[in-house]
Amino acid sequence: MPLKTDLTSADLDELRQTALGAADPLGLAADLAKAATDGRLADPDDAGAALTLAAEIAESRTKLDAALRYADQALESLGKRDDAASVAARAVRGRILFRLGREEEALAEIEPLRPALLQHNDAAASVSAALAVGGRLREAEQWLSEAVQQALTDRGNATEPTTVDEAGLLFFLLQQRHRVRHALGLQHDAHDNMAERLETRLANASARAAAEPVGDLLFWPRAEFDQLITQWPALTSSFGADWDEHRARLERELVRLAAAGRTDLALLPSTVAGLTAFAGGDGDPADPKTLSGYAKRPGAATGQIGWPVERNAACWCGSGSKYKKCCLPRSRG
Ligand SMILES: [Zn+2]
Ligand SMILES: [Zn+2]
Repeated sequence: MPLKTDLTSADLDELRQTALGAADPLGLAADLAKAATDGRLADPDDAGAALTLAAEIAESRTKLDAALRYADQALESLGKRDDAASVAARAVRGRILFRLGREEEALAEIEPLRPALLQHNDAAASVSAALAVGGRLREAEQWLSEAVQQALTDRGNATEPTTVDEAGLLFFLLQQRHRVRHALGLQHDAHDNMAERLETRLANASARAAAEPVGDLLFWPRAEFDQLITQWPALTSSFGADWDEHRARLERELVRLAAAGRTDLALLPSTVAGLTAFAGGDGDPADPKTLSGYAKRPGAATGQIGWPVERNAACWCGSGSKYKKCCLPRSRG
């Protein structure tokens, strides 16, 4: 499949998930690099990320010279930026240099990333991965321990975070440190225990989400949505202020359910006439119980729209646009 000409950040994210399973990964890497250097990305600022991805693909196929060339190009394109994309590119370049046995150059690339451990969530993983390839787990452990210490100091006297969200960056540091220390065969210390408590909470939260019944994924096509909200303005709180928000909410909820391991997801196309008929003469169509009953009514499953649809297929919302250009990106808003 030749790459299209205006790859978005979202496309790159998706390619990162699927690239290694591509029929011709090295061809894909070359196409990506070419798209980046020819300025054929939707956002020219993504060139560095596209080249980094090309480097990782080539690295995974042990085409280390090509990988290093892409990584060099990535850094060139990122210039003096010190954002997450730049940290990722440097970590990948350092990792490739380690694989090439060029230890000193590798360390010269990785060492300056230490402060980034306290700035970007992904830095802990990318820096540890590079050091692990270089057989430098001791350094990784030391750097991560210091960063954890600093992150805790920065929190002041705050009590231990009870959720991963609350822990923020600290969680990523604790998690990597915990892994590295296991790899080194070290005994648990207090910070490993903290990491494990947070990891358990995260696992429990996903398990809960996976067990939770799928809510009523009522989907109102555009004209129906407008009619619904005109008649019952209070329903904007359940379905969104406008049709864009309605679709974004559904897409996000579906992505969340899929991430929690749900399959067989589908949307239930709804109509105001159908809802009103279901509510009957004395029911209130805007009552949540009525809406839920309407979603579960016998026969509701007929006409449901399976989700997700193919990226290049018509979007589930009926807009006529391709899914990848329409509702797929809405989950990221
Ligand atoms: Zn452990
Ligand atoms: Zn759509």
